[in-house]
Amino acid sequence: MTTNSKTYDVIVVGAGHAGCEAALAAARMGCRVMLAAIDLDKIAAMPCSPSIGGMAKGQLVREIDALGGEMARVTDRTAIHFRTLNTRKGPAVHSSRTQNDKQRYHMTMKAVLEDTANLDIRQILVDRLLVENHRAVGIVDRTGFAVYGQTVVLATGTFLAGRVHIGDLSFMAGRAGEFSAEGLAADLKSLGFSMGRMKTGTPPRLHRDSIDFSVLERQDSQLHPRPFSYTSPGLGLQQVPSYIGAANAETIRTVSENISHSSLYGGFISGVSARYCPSFEDKVVKFPDRTSHQVILEPEGLDTKEIYVSGLGNSLPLEIQFALVRTIPGLEESEIMRPAYAIEYDYVDPLQLLPTLETRHLRGLYLAGQINGTSGYEEAAAQGLWAGVNAACRVQNRDAFVLDRSQAYMGVMIDDLVTRGTSEPYRMFTSRAEYRLMLREDNADLRLMEIGHELGLIDAEAAKDLRQRRRQIDEEIARLGKTVLKPGPKLDQYLADRGSSPVKTGTPAERLLKRSELDYDVVRNFAPPEAPLDARVIGQVEIAVKYEGYIRKQEKEIEKFRDMENTRIPEDFDFSAVHGLSNELCEKLDKVRPLSLGQASRIDGMTPAALSVLMVALKAGTGDTGGGGKVQGTNL
Ligand SMILES: Cc1cc2nc3c(=O)[nH]c(=O)nc-3n(C[C@H](O)[C@H](O)[C@H](O)COP(=O)(O)OP(=O)(O)OC[C@H]3O[C@@H](n4cnc5c(N)ncnc54)[C@H](O)[C@@H]3O)c2cc1C
Repeated sequence: MTTNSKTYDVIVVGAGHAGCEAALAAARMGCRVMLAAIDLDKIAAMPCSPSIGGMAKGQLVREIDALGGEMARVTDRTAIHFRTLNTRKGPAVHSSRTQNDKQRYHMTMKAVLEDTANLDIRQILVDRLLVENHRAVGIVDRTGFAVYGQTVVLATGTFLAGRVHIGDLSFMAGRAGEFSAEGLAADLKSLGFSMGRMKTGTPPRLHRDSIDFSVLERQDSQLHPRPFSYTSPGLGLQQVPSYIGAANAETIRTVSENISHSSLYGGFISGVSARYCPSFEDKVVKFPDRTSHQVILEPEGLDTKEIYVSGLGNSLPLEIQFALVRTIPGLEESEIMRPAYAIEYDYVDPLQLLPTLETRHLRGLYLAGQINGTSGYEEAAAQGLWAGVNAACRVQNRDAFVLDRSQAYMGVMIDDLVTRGTSEPYRMFTSRAEYRLMLREDNADLRLMEIGHELGLIDAEAAKDLRQRRRQIDEEIARLGKTVLKPGPKLDQYLADRGSSPVKTGTPAERLLKRSELDYDVVRNFAPPEAPLDARVIGQVEIAVKYEGYIRKQEKEIEKFRDMENTRIPEDFDFSAVHGLSNELCEKLDKVRPLSLGQASRIDGMTPAALSVLMVALKAGTGDTGGGGKVQGTNL
C-alpha cells in the first residue's frame, strides 16, 4: 500500500449531488478536503430526469441555498425550463421545478469545485476504508493507494455493488457506462454495517428530430420565475418548452404481452423500488383499468438533441422498448439514443446513523445521499451539505449541526431516516412535514440563513440584508395593524371591482388584506408605506396576515414539539431498566438510541402509554447513567 503524502480534514467519496455539497461546505468552512469520484466527467451527473426541484424538493433546494450550499445557484445558471407547481393552492405547497441543461450543470458544478480553495479533486475508485480504533481514518483505492483523513464522507449513490438491468441482461455498473463499487460495498459489509438492496430506473432518451411535436401538447416555461437562489439575478439560459403526450392502450398491450421479459417482472431484480416513482411496467400491472398514462418529453440540454421521456421508465429488452415507444402518438418514428434501464444497488440502513449522519459504530464516518436509502438529487444534496458541515464541525471541535422537524424539510428527512429508517427509496413529500405551513419555499432564508452565516457559509452582506428584510416585515405587519382605512368612493369602487364588500366604518388595513379576494395592492393604493418595499418583504407580509390564525396554531404545536425535543435522553440510557416497556420496544429504542423524548415518540411502534412510562422514568432518573451533548442549529 502506498500512501498519499498529504492528509486531509475531510475526505469525500463521491462527486454526485451529495458529495459536491459535502466537499464545498467543508472546504468553505476552512477544512482541507479531498473529493474522490470514479469519473470526473460525471461530476454532478443527472443520470435520470433533467429536473431539479418539484413537490417538496423545491423546498429542499431553497433550504440548501439559505444555508450556503451550491445546488440552487448552479440550477439557476443552467435551467432551460422553470415552473412553480401548485400555485392555485396555499403557499405551503408551492414548489419550484426546473429542467436543466445536464451537460452545463455538470460543467458549472465542476468549475465551482475546481475554483474552491482547500479542495483537491481526484479520479479514483475507492475500494475500502482505513479504520483504527473504531474510527474511519482514510481510504484505499483500487490501486492500493491510501489517503488519510480525520473524517470520511461516503456519498456513493447507486454505485455500491450497482448492477444495471435491461431485460434478462445485467452487468455490474454504478450507472450505465460507469464502474460499480463492489469493493467498497463488500468492505462496508465486513465492517458490520447492516445493508439492503434498492432499485431505481430511468426511461429511454429519444432523438428530437425523430419526434412529431405537432401532435403533442406544448408546455412553456414560466415567465418571470423567482430563481431558486437568493444570489441569482435571474435565469441564465434561453428557456425551451417541454411537450406532453400519452401512452395508450396499444402501449399498454405491448408491455403486458412482454411483461415476463422485463428485468423487474422477469424476477431478475431483488432491489426494492420506489412506490411513488413506478416504472411503466408497474403502471400496467398496478393500474389494469387505466387505458392511458401521461408522458412528458423534456429536452436534456440546449446543445443536444436528446429528449428525456418522463413516465416511461422501464427495463424491457431494447427491441420491445422500440415497439412500445412507437405506439405513442408523435413518437411513431422515434429513434432511441439511450435505452431505458433499471439499476439495483446496496444501501446502508440509516438507523445506524446519528442525527449528524455520522455512523454509530465507526466514528468519523459520515454517510450522505442515496447510500442512506433516499432517492433524488435534492434529497442527496441536502444530506451532503448536512454531512459535510458536521464533518467540519467535528474536525474544528464545534457543536454538531442538526436542524429539527420544525426548522426545515432537511430536518424532517434526516429525522425520518435516523429514527424510522426506510425500506424503500425515500423521497421527500410535503405530507411528511407536519409543520409545512412554516417550512415554505418563500421563507427558507428567514428560517435558515442566520444559521448558514454562523457556520461561515453565508457572507455578512447577505446576513445583513436578511436582518433588514426581517425588520421591514415585522414593521410593516405592525403598521398595517395600526393603519385604519376610512370608507370612501375610491375605496368602495376598488373593492367592488374585485368583488369585495364595501367597508362601512374605519377598517384596519390588515383586516382588508385578510380578505382572500384582495392582496397587498390594496395597501399599495390606500395605505402605502413611506418607501416601496421589496417583493420578498411584501410576500411575507401577505402570508403572515392572511394565514395568521393557522400560523399561530402551528406555532403552538411547535412549542409542544420543542418541549419533547428538549427532554433529553442520556446517550447511554438503559431502556431495559424502565418497568413497563415491552422487550420489542426496548430493542427498537436500543437500535435507534433516541437523543430526546421527541425522537423516541417517533419510533415505529412507540405508544402513548410507553411514552409516558419513559417520560416518568426520565424524570425519576430510572435508567439514567449520566450522559448528554450540545448541538448547533437547535438547542438540544
Ligand atoms: C438509472 C438511474 C435512475 C434514477 N432514477 C431516479 C428517479 O427516477 N427519481 C429520483 O429521484 N432519482 C433517481 N435516480 C437517483 C438519483 O440519481 C440519485 O438520487 C442522485 O443522483 C443521488 O445522488 P448521490 O450524490 O447520492 O449519488 P450519485 O449521484 O449516484 O453519485 C455518486 C458518486 O459517487 C462516486 N462513487 C461511487 N462509488 C465510488 C467509489 N468507490 N470510489 C470513488 N467514487 C465513487 C461516483 O463516481 C459518483 O460521483 C436515478 C439514478 C439512476 C442511476
